[in-house]
Amino acid sequence: MKIESRLAQIGSISEPVTGAVSYPIYHSTAYRHPKLGQSTGFDYTRTKNPTRTILEDAIAQLESGDAGFASSSGMASLQTIFALFSQGDHLIVSLDLYGGTYRLLEKIMSRFGITATYVDTNDLDALESERTPSTKAVLIETPTNPLMMVTDIEKVSTWAKRHGLLTIVDNTLLTPFFQRPIELGADIVIHSATKYLGGHNDVLAGLIVTKGKELSEQVAFLHNSIGAVLGPQDAWLLMRGMKTLALRMERHQENATKIACFLKTHLDVENVYYPALPEHLHHDVQNRQSSGNTGIFSFRLKDARLVEPILRHIKLIAFAESLGGVESLMTYPAVQTHADIPEEIRRAVGVDDRLLRFSVGIEHADDLIADLAYALEEARKEIGV
Ligand SMILES: *Cc1c(COP(=O)(O)O)cnc(C)c1O
Repeated sequence: MKIESRLAQIGSISEPVTGAVSYPIYHSTAYRHPKLGQSTGFDYTRTKNPTRTILEDAIAQLESGDAGFASSSGMASLQTIFALFSQGDHLIVSLDLYGGTYRLLEKIMSRFGITATYVDTNDLDALESERTPSTKAVLIETPTNPLMMVTDIEKVSTWAKRHGLLTIVDNTLLTPFFQRPIELGADIVIHSATKYLGGHNDVLAGLIVTKGKELSEQVAFLHNSIGAVLGPQDAWLLMRGMKTLALRMERHQENATKIACFLKTHLDVENVYYPALPEHLHHDVQNRQSSGNTGIFSFRLKDARLVEPILRHIKLIAFAESLGGVESLMTYPAVQTHADIPEEIRRAVGVDDRLLRFSVGIEHADDLIADLAYALEEARKEIGV
């Protein structure tokens, strides 16, 4: 079946007793055992919950993996995966990284003796020169947030396999609708399902997908032992969002492309970073490994003084700190999502005080362009350029 059909049918044909089309929310934390030595397959809800299982099986199948795990947030998924590593282990990580992942590695995992080096994961020579006998995995985000750098997943995972390293891909920005890293050689896929998978800015959740029996068993053990699992209510809410993922992603992409084209010719805009644009540095890799583009992009203004009035004058677009929902949100990465990354690193990768990130929603593109055009014009008047 095509992915659109699989998405729309998540949980719909799974409840045999009543035939409920919307899968029930099982709140029970405990399950009766028929007799000594027997189980219905459910014992205690941290280990396994029927509602969560439907979600976990769905994401495993959508990502072409062997097992899925639902966590209480994207960060909880990352923390669970980092527990695969031990004191002395080293990771190679995408340079332009989600701020929370950087913070978890630098402020917490480092205290447990797990270190990370940040490189441009497109540069095989850079990867090779950072590899040490302690290196255990490479963690990539592609495209990165906010600068939309694309990494060739197949190239990196082939290199990683040759050296016995795991390839972990944060697939939050594209979702399995547009990109399936496991099919390109990755071992683990992570999602902040809070973003596109949930899609409505109303549920916090994380997902993990693993490839291979041994790795899946290891992660199942960690997921249950650490216990940062997703509650059944949120698992249901996430599945409800995922049913419309295909429609939403197509509209996000269409809107983002129109608005990126509007901005790239605007006289106050220096640069637009969006892999769908033919002039983007990694346009070809993106097209080769993904069937579409995310709904977020970033752009750099010519004058930093424009930022404050633009954020004050946008009306339809909300100045808020997230991405991937049906509502359009504008973020100022330098002071919001990336504030935990030291200034010199932030600037070196290009997250400076003129950069804005736009998570384009599913409103009408004309309304979004009108909102932006008005805010840019008012900002221009205020600073008098
Ligand atoms: C938001 C985000 C995370 C963290 O997920 P939460 O659900 O907020 O915990 C991780 N990676 C990326 C790329 C994200 O955008």
